[in-house]
Amino acid sequence: MSHLGEWEVVIGLEIHTQLSTQSKIFSGASTKFGAEPNTQACAIDLGMPGVLPVVNKEVYRKAVTFGLGIGAEINKRSVFDRKNYFYPDLPKGYQITQLESPIVMGGHVEIVLDDGTSKVINVTRAHLEEDAGKSLHENYHNQTGIDLNRAGTPLLEIVSEPEMRSAEEAVAYARYIHQLVTYLGVSDGNMSQGSLRCDANVSIRKHGQQELGTRTETKNVNSFRFLEAAINFEVERQIGILESGGRVIQETRLYDAVKNETRSMRSKETATDYRYFPEPDLLPIVIDDAYIDAVRAEMPELPAQRAVRFVEQYQLSEVDAALLSSNLDLANYFEEVTAICGDPKPASNWIRVELLGLLNRDDIEISESPLPSAQLGKLIQRILDDTISGKIGKQVFEALWQGVARDVDDYIAHEGLKQVSDSGELEAIVDKVIADNPAQVEQFRAGKTKLMGFFVGQIMKETQGKANPKQVNALVSSRLND
Ligand code: ADP
Ligand code: MG
Repeated sequence: MSHLGEWEVVIGLEIHTQLSTQSKIFSGASTKFGAEPNTQACAIDLGMPGVLPVVNKEVYRKAVTFGLGIGAEINKRSVFDRKNYFYPDLPKGYQITQLESPIVMGGHVEIVLDDGTSKVINVTRAHLEEDAGKSLHENYHNQTGIDLNRAGTPLLEIVSEPEMRSAEEAVAYARYIHQLVTYLGVSDGNMSQGSLRCDANVSIRKHGQQELGTRTETKNVNSFRFLEAAINFEVERQIGILESGGRVIQETRLYDAVKNETRSMRSKETATDYRYFPEPDLLPIVIDDAYIDAVRAEMPELPAQRAVRFVEQYQLSEVDAALLSSNLDLANYFEEVTAICGDPKPASNWIRVELLGLLNRDDIEISESPLPSAQLGKLIQRILDDTISGKIGKQVFEALWQGVARDVDDYIAHEGLKQVSDSGELEAIVDKVIADNPAQVEQFRAGKTKLMGFFVGQIMKETQGKANPKQVNALVSSRLND
């Protein structure tokens, strides 16, 4: 970005990931998404007098799993704190979080950028906390609705060092964290449902300057595209301010996706504003080495390990293995297709070229693919066993994608797409095409062998693409070379 000139961009991300547990962090209330408002907040989530929170064991097991996944130090005695503030969607008047002694300390991840270079980003900490409720401003004319279902939903807040130097790096880091938490089964990673939200801390400074510039924090960005846009907007805004002699105010901002801009929300609070103190109703989480070892023993396969396995087990190229293992759902899809069709090579090709092409075009996640892995597996199988040609295969693929076809075999039978492999039938067609085109036959025999393509094309036309191409080639050359 040449327009940056003398300015260097500095970004640190705070990523809130919702831990995929059945129940809340301190109560037995359900965390299921999509319930009627205010039907899933119990007395504990609401902080009613006389109730006591109890830590959900699954929550810290997932936090430890994540910590091990980034090579962090696991704090064997982590402490909950109260962060006091008033907000309509925070019924207790405080949020339970971890300030001084978070469960995960340090760790790092390695991101790969578009130009193929990689960079290590250090993680400062990851701490457990509860989510607040939600204020609903739409559909309530001149009023605000409050839905407390999310209150007490378990979150792991992952805080990075301010080590990213561009929106591209920040997005690569956020994508990596997303990939990691989904692979580890720590979070479902569903961003449209709020399972992964980024706060982007952005500042700029002159190249070579040691101290950091004043930052702004843009809150609750829930897509990678918005994250990139919000950071780029903020960088431009700050450059504009500094170059016209002003100064950046440290504040919390909101990203407006419709206008593609960030707007001031409130001036930045400091820790003292929150009057933190240790949560008196909860004991610290105390774990030992045996516990950490047990969690480590159950760690699922990580993306990089899966890529290595794909190379070894399926003989994929490293590039293809990296792509197919980049997303848990995609990796599972590839293995399902391969298991059905029995050949990893065409499975990889069809998924990378055809399927990912359409998913990208229509901006659909693999988990929402209209084409189930079982059908793609069967489609490839039918090409491999010569029931249909590759060309017809593309047609069936389209039909499956459009929802016109549901079952590969039914569709092939119903549309009469079965390849003509009967050699008697094919021979008759070949002879007819040769008889119909005496001029081309003469030219071919006179040395214009390029005309082979013409004959094959004519035969394909006669059979509506259903002829077996290998057989056609063999038949035509034996006839013409007589
Ligand atoms: P707070 O908890 O008040 O938001 P922290 O010091 O914990 O502040 O930092 C939060 C995030 O902001 C971290 O990811 C950190 O890397 C990042 N950060 C801190 N200072 C800057 C800065 N000057 N520019 C960009 N990011 C920063
Ligand atoms: Mg913050």
